[in-house]
Amino acid sequence: MLSDETRARIESAKKVCVFTGAGVSAESGIPTFRDAGGLWENHRPEDLVTIEAFERDPVLVWRWHLWLQNLCHGSQPNAAHEALARLDSASPEFLCITQNIDDLHERAGTNRIVKIHSDLMQIRCLAKDHVTQLTTALDEHSIRSSDDFPKCPKCGSPCRPNVVWFGEMLPIEPLDRARRFASRCDLFIIVGTSGVVSGGYGFTEMAKHNGAFILEINPRKSELTYLADISIRLPAAEALPELFGTIPGDQD
Ligand code: NAD
Repeated sequence: MLSDETRARIESAKKVCVFTGAGVSAESGIPTFRDAGGLWENHRPEDLVTIEAFERDPVLVWRWHLWLQNLCHGSQPNAAHEALARLDSASPEFLCITQNIDDLHERAGTNRIVKIHSDLMQIRCLAKDHVTQLTTALDEHSIRSSDDFPKCPKCGSPCRPNVVWFGEMLPIEPLDRARRFASRCDLFIIVGTSGVVSGGYGFTEMAKHNGAFILEINPRKSELTYLADISIRLPAAEALPELFGTIPGDQD
């Protein structure tokens, strides 16, 4: 798959930054936004993840998020998540920056992770921004009116999903941590993102500016391909285990 020179560059990396998008979870059965059409009741997901959509039809938005929450909660990490977890345990310095709102990286065992779009298993109250971590998925069919929205355990006010919607600011602390690490890594691996939104975050440019080797894994060309030193045009669950199947120091 790779030349000896490229492989040596990858294997000698000490600070490994992985940047993932929806494609890394595709083989767990979770559809990406831009690959699949007509995901849910003829609504485009992009039209359901904005504050305007929530103000217009909060019941629809809540039900869609709970549909996705149940799908993610019932899915299992795939071989790509597992290979990245091995890379985490084998790398002296490592950070996975994920745009994903599922928790499959964490369930596969990745510990050093920052979730820049937050987490589908969290709710946030509309009154005071209290965040609550859920331990189980909520029933989509339980939401029939605004009276049924999940309530904040701290103040009792109604909640929204605690995910970053289109047009919203990224949370500051995770963004800072991601930028700091991306700008000093020596290997930057982009997995399963179209880069349509994330291209604007600048992580890949920061890594490149520091001289990092940029490896992309995506069956299709993306908005970030032009920055990559190498693009592997394979599904993540095929490419990543081949690259990081056996790593010295691997506990498995
Ligand atoms: P996207 O839908 O814009 O792009 C998905 C990318 O994954 C495409 O470039 C596609 O070619 C690639 N891809 C498809 N199958 C793949 C595979 N098997 N292996 C590797 N790559 C594959 O997704 P995005 O760039 O992540 O941006 C969309 C937004 O949607 C993000 O903000 C994310 O939070 C959200 N989202 C998250 C999930 C999730 O958490 N699992 C699912 C859908 C959408």
